[in-house]
Amino acid sequence: AAQEGFDPEEVESDIAAAGHGPLPVLAVVGRPNVGKSTLVNRILGRREAVVEDRPGVTRDRVTYEAEWAGRRFKVVDTGGWEQDVLGIDASVAAQAEFAMEAADAVVFVVDSSVGATDTDEAVVKLLRRAGKPVVLCANKVDGPAAEADAAALWSLGLGEPYPVSALHGRGTGDMLDAALEALPEAPAQTFGTAIGGPRRVALIGRPNVGKSSLLNKVAGEERVVVNEQAGTTRDPVDELIELGGKTWKFVDTAGIRRRVHLQEGADYYASLRTAAALEKAEVAVVLIDASESISVQDQRIITMAVEAGRALVIAYNKWDTLDEERRYYLEREIERDLVQIPWAQRVNVSARTGRHMEKLVPAIETAIAGWETRVPTGRLNAFLGEIVASHPHPIRGGKQPRILFGTQAGIKPPRFVLFASGFLEAGYRRFVERRLREEFGFEGTPIHISVRVRE
Ligand code: GDP
Ligand code: GDP
Repeated sequence: AAQEGFDPEEVESDIAAAGHGPLPVLAVVGRPNVGKSTLVNRILGRREAVVEDRPGVTRDRVTYEAEWAGRRFKVVDTGGWEQDVLGIDASVAAQAEFAMEAADAVVFVVDSSVGATDTDEAVVKLLRRAGKPVVLCANKVDGPAAEADAAALWSLGLGEPYPVSALHGRGTGDMLDAALEALPEAPAQTFGTAIGGPRRVALIGRPNVGKSSLLNKVAGEERVVVNEQAGTTRDPVDELIELGGKTWKFVDTAGIRRRVHLQEGADYYASLRTAAALEKAEVAVVLIDASESISVQDQRIITMAVEAGRALVIAYNKWDTLDEERRYYLEREIERDLVQIPWAQRVNVSARTGRHMEKLVPAIETAIAGWETRVPTGRLNAFLGEIVASHPHPIRGGKQPRILFGTQAGIKPPRFVLFASGFLEAGYRRFVERRLREEFGFEGTPIHISVRVRE
């Protein structure tokens, strides 16, 4: 009776939508000013990625969830770093590298009013080598007169150039259809290939927090560098490391080890690497330099990990340098700045002395266990029934919204759909999440709760 008023097919599709697994990743790659951000905005259908005429504007966000023709995917705008810092060739090469490591398909954008440049041709070579499907977007074809410019891009050898005006929307539909056709249903890098293989860990954090020191500590000085795809020319980016009697795959370690420290202003490049590592990982170990105040950048990296839906461990490093006063202030900062993730696993370590290194693996294992927890529907609904009885939603406008039933639609991370008789206030939803965590654990993992209201 509780389900009365719901169309079973709708319920099914709500559950499917809320339970979508990891999404495939489409990277938008190309030289500066060819229109990547404009295209990403067009794909998102809103002005979320910032487009500025000023070249070299640093953009914060990298990855966005998008939907086209009923399919959900992630789109990555690789265009945000300051070209002055890296130089055009280096920055475009970095994008291509990202595409190789983390994307499932690539939209390569060329400014057809300019034509193919040497840089474009160099990128094509890199993309070819990566073996990822590429759709060629001949941008800035604002009208029929410019179609010939698009046709000239057959010379790049990437197949049919799709004439597009990202600015006006012309041709974007056909181009996206082709891109989605090239995009696999599930991301191959992340989950498709590795069932039963070593768990994948992303060690992330802002520069100088001690990532490479930690990696050296856990791996020992002589580590095995593993290149999974024998016969490819790709950089060995992932390393297998023995820890606590198990083998773990630390992803994208090349980015950590590359000791060429980028100059100030290359934050965007670092974000891109972080996003790439997160795409490939199951669990994120976010390293924080505990000797310094928790920074906005630290918080942003944590947010990226949470938004990517990864299991989360926060490692407070450089513990050897902390005096009592600093320890006091650190706890205050954690209370103030990291309130939204009380569930994250925590370890206090020193990459220098090796302090508490043995606690890292249990923390990672706890986080992964939480991330994979599945609550049977019967137990979930018994629990929801208790909540509704003991802590009903406050009455609003003479009505009392009730949770009617719920189901766990997915894991990695856990996703729930609750069906309700009315709008559930944010405070009540937070309460439900808190109680869910108390009841079922979910330590070290974000959880998603979506609410469907009967009209
Ligand atoms: P990005 O650096 O590759 O991300 O390029 P942007 O998206 O920032 O665009 C660079 C410039 O090209 C901006 O001034 C855009 O308005 C312009 N632009 C982008 N797409 C088109 C298009 O389809 N037609 C025309 N005429 N201009 C465009
Ligand atoms: P990354 O940029 O995150 O890879 O950081 P690094 O591993 O290069 O470390 C940055 C600096 O912090 C180096 O000088 C390290 O020696 C130092 N460092 C790293 N871990 C610790 C630690 O646990 N204690 C102390 N005292 N210094 C550390």
